[in-house]
Amino acid sequence: MKFFKIKLKFLLIYLFVSISLAATNDTIKLVKNSKLLNKIDTIENNKFFSINDFLSSTGSELYINEKTEKIVFYLDNKKIKITNGITFLLIDDNIYQLSSKVVRQNNEYFVHIDSFINIVNSSLQNLSIISNSSEIIISSTAKTKNVAIKNIDIEKNKWKFSTIIIDPGHGGKDPGAVGYRGTLEKDIALDVAKRLEKKISKNMKVKTVLTRDEDIFLKLGERTKIANENNGSLFISIHANAATDRRASGFETFLIGPNKNEAAVRVAARENSVLELEGVAGKKLTNEDLIQATIAQSAFASKSEKFAALVQEEIGKRVQGKNRGVKQAGFYVLMGASMPNVLVELGFISNLAEEKKLRSSQYREVLATAIFRALEKYEKTLDND
Ligand SMILES: [Zn+2]
Repeated sequence: MKFFKIKLKFLLIYLFVSISLAATNDTIKLVKNSKLLNKIDTIENNKFFSINDFLSSTGSELYINEKTEKIVFYLDNKKIKITNGITFLLIDDNIYQLSSKVVRQNNEYFVHIDSFINIVNSSLQNLSIISNSSEIIISSTAKTKNVAIKNIDIEKNKWKFSTIIIDPGHGGKDPGAVGYRGTLEKDIALDVAKRLEKKISKNMKVKTVLTRDEDIFLKLGERTKIANENNGSLFISIHANAATDRRASGFETFLIGPNKNEAAVRVAARENSVLELEGVAGKKLTNEDLIQATIAQSAFASKSEKFAALVQEEIGKRVQGKNRGVKQAGFYVLMGASMPNVLVELGFISNLAEEKKLRSSQYREVLATAIFRALEKYEKTLDND
C-alpha cells in the first residue's frame, strides 16, 4: 500500500510538472542597463511580445480601455497609443505603422517586437531599445548622432510609394457574383489584376504583390494581412458587381466609410457575405466599427480619395458604360489596410450587355490600362505633396 502511495505521489508530481511545462509560454529576457528586469511573454516564435509584461517590468504608466481595446502608455515622456487588431501606433499624435496588427490573447496585448522597437526607438531621446532573438535591451543613454540621422531617413521613407498590392476579389470556393451567362466575378477580377500587374512591372519602378495569382480561396482578413506585411503603399481590391435589377450597369470605386447610401450598402453587404464562407457570419460591421476604421485611416484617407477619383476618371475616358462615381461603405476587406486603399467594381456581370463586354479580353485590357494610368497619375500627385 505504501509503495502505491509513493508511486501515486510521483505520478502526481510528474503530472504537475508536465502540465506546468506545457503551460509555460515562450519568453524573452528584458534587460535594462545590463540588469535582468524580467522575462516577458512572447508568441509566434518570439516575434510578438506582451506589452503588458514589458510595461509592468519597466514600471511605465499604462492605461487600458478594455472596451475599445486601446492601450496608452508612457516611455521616456512620450505618449504612445496602440489598439488591438490595428497596425497603427501613435507617438505624441504622430502616426506610425507596425508591420503586423496588435494581437490580444488571454487579456494580454502582443506587439510585433522588431517593428515596435524600430519605431519607438527612433522617437525616444533618453532611452535606447534594441533586441536580438533572446533579449530586449534598454539602456538609458543619450543617443549618438548616427541614430538621429537614421531617424530622419525613416520619417522620409514612411510613405514612400514602393509597393502596390493588387487584390483580385474572391477565388476558390467563393465565385463572387455570377453573371447572366454564368460568368464568375472571381475570374474577371483575377484576369484584370494580372493584366494590371504586368503593366506595372513593365512600366513603373515599384514592386507589385498580388494577394492571389490563381483560383484559390483567401479570407478577407488574409488579404489585408498580406498587404500590411508587404508594407504596401496602395491597396487595390478588384471586383465585378451584380444586382437583382438586371438593368443596373456601370463602374464605381469604393472607399471605406460609414454607410450612407443604400445602393453602396448593398454592394458592401454582397462583398462582405464571403465572411459566411469563413465561418464568421455573426461578425457584422456596426456603424461604430466603421467610424473607428475611418478614424484609423484618416492619415491616408485623402490619398485613397485621390486614387479612387483617378480610377473613375481613367475608366470613364476609355469605356462607354455609366460612371457611377466614388462611393463609401463598410467593406470588410478594406478595414484593416494600413495604407491608402480602394475597391473597384469594374461593371455589372448581372447586366447582359455589360457581362458580354467583361467577357471580352480586349475590354478587360482596357480596364487594366485605365487603372494603370490612374496609378501613374496618382504617383505624380505624391511627388507634389
Ligand atoms: Zn466582389
